[in-house]
Amino acid sequence: MLALRTARAIFTLPEAERIAREHYGIVACVHPLPGERDANFHLRGADGREHVLKIIDPEASPETTDCQLRVLRHVAEQDPTLPVPRIFPTLRGEDAGKVEGAGGSYTVCLVGYLGGRLLSKQTPGPVLLENLGRTLARLDRALQGFFHPALGQRIAWDVRRLPELVEFAGYIPSAALRDSVQRAAAALEERMPALRSLRGQAIHGDCHGQNLLVDGDSISGILDFGDMIHAPRALEPAVTLAELLMEDLVPLGALAPVLQGYSREARLESGEIELLYDLIVARQAATILVHAWRGRHDVEGARVLDAQTSQAARSLEALQKAGREALTATWHRAAGTRIGGAASGRAAGPEPLAAREPPGVLGNCAPQPPDAPDLSRRHRLMGAGAELFYERPLHLVRGSGVWLYDPLGRSYLDVYNNVPHVGHAHPKVVRAIQEQVATLATHTRYLHSRILDYAERLTATLPAHLNACIFVNSGSEANDVAWRIAQSTTGRRGALVVEHAYHGITDAVAALTPGTGQDPRVVTLAAPRTLPGQNAPRAPSAGGELDSGPEPCTLERAALAAAAVDADQALRTLAERGFAPAAFFIDSALTSSGIYDPPAAWGTLVAERVRSAGALIVADEVQYGLGRSGSHFWGFERRGMMPDIVTLGKPVGNGYPMGVVIASRELIEAFQRRYGFFSTFGGNAVAAAAGLAVLEVLESEELVSNAAATGEYFRRRLAALGARHPCLGAVRGTGLLLGVEVKSVGAHTARQCAKRLINMLAAESRVLIGYEGPDADVLKLRPPMPFRPEHADLVIAAIEAAAARVSRNPDAAK
Ligand code: PMP
Repeated sequence: MLALRTARAIFTLPEAERIAREHYGIVACVHPLPGERDANFHLRGADGREHVLKIIDPEASPETTDCQLRVLRHVAEQDPTLPVPRIFPTLRGEDAGKVEGAGGSYTVCLVGYLGGRLLSKQTPGPVLLENLGRTLARLDRALQGFFHPALGQRIAWDVRRLPELVEFAGYIPSAALRDSVQRAAAALEERMPALRSLRGQAIHGDCHGQNLLVDGDSISGILDFGDMIHAPRALEPAVTLAELLMEDLVPLGALAPVLQGYSREARLESGEIELLYDLIVARQAATILVHAWRGRHDVEGARVLDAQTSQAARSLEALQKAGREALTATWHRAAGTRIGGAASGRAAGPEPLAAREPPGVLGNCAPQPPDAPDLSRRHRLMGAGAELFYERPLHLVRGSGVWLYDPLGRSYLDVYNNVPHVGHAHPKVVRAIQEQVATLATHTRYLHSRILDYAERLTATLPAHLNACIFVNSGSEANDVAWRIAQSTTGRRGALVVEHAYHGITDAVAALTPGTGQDPRVVTLAAPRTLPGQNAPRAPSAGGELDSGPEPCTLERAALAAAAVDADQALRTLAERGFAPAAFFIDSALTSSGIYDPPAAWGTLVAERVRSAGALIVADEVQYGLGRSGSHFWGFERRGMMPDIVTLGKPVGNGYPMGVVIASRELIEAFQRRYGFFSTFGGNAVAAAAGLAVLEVLESEELVSNAAATGEYFRRRLAALGARHPCLGAVRGTGLLLGVEVKSVGAHTARQCAKRLINMLAAESRVLIGYEGPDADVLKLRPPMPFRPEHADLVIAAIEAAAARVSRNPDAAK
């Protein structure tokens, strides 16, 4: 990415003198001038005239240079009074010349020298700040009609690149600062759809104190058009405001005159002010990240940013402390715009719940997205039985992080989907898929190292005996293959599964899904309903302190004894039907059985029983795998069992369809010898790229520990709700897979109340959850892994509002 590294052309004063003479016929006295990437020299000719000789950044493409030169002509034409440098042609009459220097050939140009002092050397008062705002507005107006292909340059200073830069967060030594930067990047990412909907145009993009000259209270020079991009117009004032803070020129509370000045010259839109905070914060974060990167790769370049970066850290903290709401309100006042004014309504970002309409207002009278596909068309083309969520089905068009968006740009908090494990449309996964599909998309009948890298990385997270993989395309297929391996290894045909388990859709696997088939070869084990969850609070002892207490232990022992009896009975039933067990399948999260989280002793006990009967243990990690429990990377570890086969699906490709079967090499080779196995798409190069990217993001963004911390916070807050609302009960599960029991209210069953709640949450608060369990009476909360406590707070507020009404009267809540 451009501008990460500072690779300034190195030219000596005598060389600059020679260039001025040979290319421009100017005999001059030469002095160096500052410049981050261009080498700049001040020339004072014998006639007293002053110019600036610019030897352009060697990394800048010819198009960017061409753009820089053309824009100066364009601005001068549109607003001749704007103080931008004027270009002087070479002796050959060209806008730029070529010179040789160390490392190759460089572009050189000559512009008029603009007098004044750098803004960075002043303490600007309100008048100067207002004039600065006015100048920016005039500049943006002049730039409005300008276009050049180079405006699409990928430059680190374009804050829209922040989600890419954030991968360098690991280089930031301070954990607190790293966290702030990551939060800034995540917040910006969430606002990206709203940002994309703002009016865009060519902007200077770098109007900071060292690119602006001041004479008295006026701006006398706008320099350096090398960072120009096509971007939301709001980014122009945002960069300047951010830089005023980072250069420590203006305190946070004194930025208003810039916006006042801007809006006196050119209208600012309400939606632009709404995003200003995020853009300003993002610029601070980008500076810190570029500095951190340079600290490792370009020490000299880092030094240039040292002072600014320390100040960026301080102002980032101040911004985050002051909060977007309060600052945005001040800036709306300064710009004369209204919160939620006409323009801001064009694309609502994921605004905090508090800023949204109160429950009931949005509900049924919210505008329907204009292009929602009509249901009859869907029924005709997909069959009326194709499942849909919610009474008012949602039409979604975009996802980002933990947010989903409808065609009107309204945001929905996704607390349900686990396929986008590392977040919807995670840029690193998207890029990995795009790059691989644009390079090579072949299958595993050719050699390719990516899939081996992936297999190595995946198996490294598992116990040593789980060391080889078969790649397929879904969780169902993975279970189907595991089932075939189990049968062919043991020579048996019976299976044990947990009550109400779900393992997939193929013919064979549907039989392992009780409720979808009545296969005599499949017998169920009772779900651990009566065992306390691993997080369940213990009974208080006589002294009021928490301890493990005799009562729960006795209960636990009784429940474990019952589980042992049940497992033995299941094995007997299977034998009576004439089958020996080939496998015990367990969804390690016990999701569809009701989201139970029994103590590890339960899993160990069941595993021992079935293993001693000769069954292989298949841990179906489609739900719990890749760290969802927060406490372990694999769910079977939390269950206290050691599987022979592990199956993966949903989250592994973050939306790219993938499934994996992992077992010992011996098991897999025996299966291959017997049946041969090949899946066209399974393990293709694109899948490998997606899978690897998911593992990388999980690690770099520390999402497993986030699942633990946020999950614990979420669980505690959900548990507290139960005490306040009669329709809510205990919380089940752990990490980012949680269930909340729903209770019946009057004549309304728990199932009806659960249904009411999830529909109210979707329609009124735009919070998407589901329900689960054999009786569909457990609220299911299973968000993407970047789900944070602040998102949990939104869900709690939404459930609180809905549960209060449902507890009073579920009918009235309709
Ligand atoms: N196993 C479990 C535990 C699941 O939850 C699912 C899907 N919900 C599957 C297997 C099947 O996966 P897929 O839908 O990708 O075939």
